[in-house]
Amino acid sequence: MTSFQTRAVHAGLEPDPTYGSVIPAIHQTSTYRQSAVGEFVGDYDYARSANPTRFALEQALGELEGGRAVAFSSGLAAAHALLVHVARTGDHVVLPADLYGGTFRLVDKVMTQWGLEYTLVDQTDLDALAAAIVPATKIVWVETPTNPLLNVVDVRGVVAHAAAAGPAPLVVVDNTFATPVNQRPLELGADAVVHSTTKYLGGHSDVVGGAVIARDDALYEGMRFVQNAVGSVPGPFDSFLVHRGLRTLPLRMKAHAESAAAVAEFLRATPGVSDVRWPGFSGMVSFRHADAIGIAQRTRLFTLAESLGGVESLIEVPQAMTHQSVEGSDAAVPADLVRLSCGIEAPADLVADLRAAIG
Ligand SMILES: *Cc1c(COP(=O)(O)O)cnc(C)c1O
Repeated sequence: MTSFQTRAVHAGLEPDPTYGSVIPAIHQTSTYRQSAVGEFVGDYDYARSANPTRFALEQALGELEGGRAVAFSSGLAAAHALLVHVARTGDHVVLPADLYGGTFRLVDKVMTQWGLEYTLVDQTDLDALAAAIVPATKIVWVETPTNPLLNVVDVRGVVAHAAAAGPAPLVVVDNTFATPVNQRPLELGADAVVHSTTKYLGGHSDVVGGAVIARDDALYEGMRFVQNAVGSVPGPFDSFLVHRGLRTLPLRMKAHAESAAAVAEFLRATPGVSDVRWPGFSGMVSFRHADAIGIAQRTRLFTLAESLGGVESLIEVPQAMTHQSVEGSDAAVPADLVRLSCGIEAPADLVADLRAAIG
């Protein structure tokens, strides 16, 4: 098999059969002409159900994660599709004790209204994880590295503990922070991968999207059913943008990691800065500082903004910005935590910007 870097360039791309354009056309259409009643090409009868531009993206995502992909209008729409397909009233899910605030809000504020129960657990402690799995547990939801504390979870260990439980819950990994460049959960035994393609996969802060990549056909069919029934589909142009992002993903992830390594090294040597976290790959770095808010407002290259994973660097204070929905819960984050998404600018410029802002 060709290397990941090569596959990222070619995945899901077939030259257009009509004109031979190397990059296929964006099928910006809501419907398709039928040659006779009920006769249409493939499954292309209506664009909520199927669209060639979206299908090309799904082929690419499936190839890169090693499963079958279904694209959604956002990362949370993808998470929602998995939850509603797998869990029923009275069922239970295990969530990480530090996770993306929006995923927590979806379960805590929406799904609990339909009778879903959950337990938060520190998944770096596999014994605690095993103890949190009960007979009603349908999903062990893993996020690694976690957002915003960047803890790394042993996916193989989680899979082993889930398999030992009876009945065994599905292991779902939110792979948004690692990307398939650094971690392919299906190869580690997970049942499904979730992405916010808004972040590294799109990579240019110009699109919101999500995906589920399933190991087996039944789960894939279930995702397709929810995608069509709920209507949480990405538009053709958004699908095109994410697909274009995938082609440079390995290059970008390398540059993100170089930036993050330089930034983490600088921060570790800076007085007043504590608890510097960088998992050793990807561009996410977090640290604590008494003047967290002041620093976030003084950087010039790092833009003060939510989100992450774009080519430009971003800075934020999770407790006040992205993680308000976990405030007061066991998933709460420290108020003096700063989260950086290190972009692909020159690492020395990023360090200089932080040095000036920290003062
Ligand atoms: C942003 C994010 C999500 C949600 O994705 P959206 O595209 O914003 O809906 C889920 N998980 C993680 C880890 C994220 O960073």
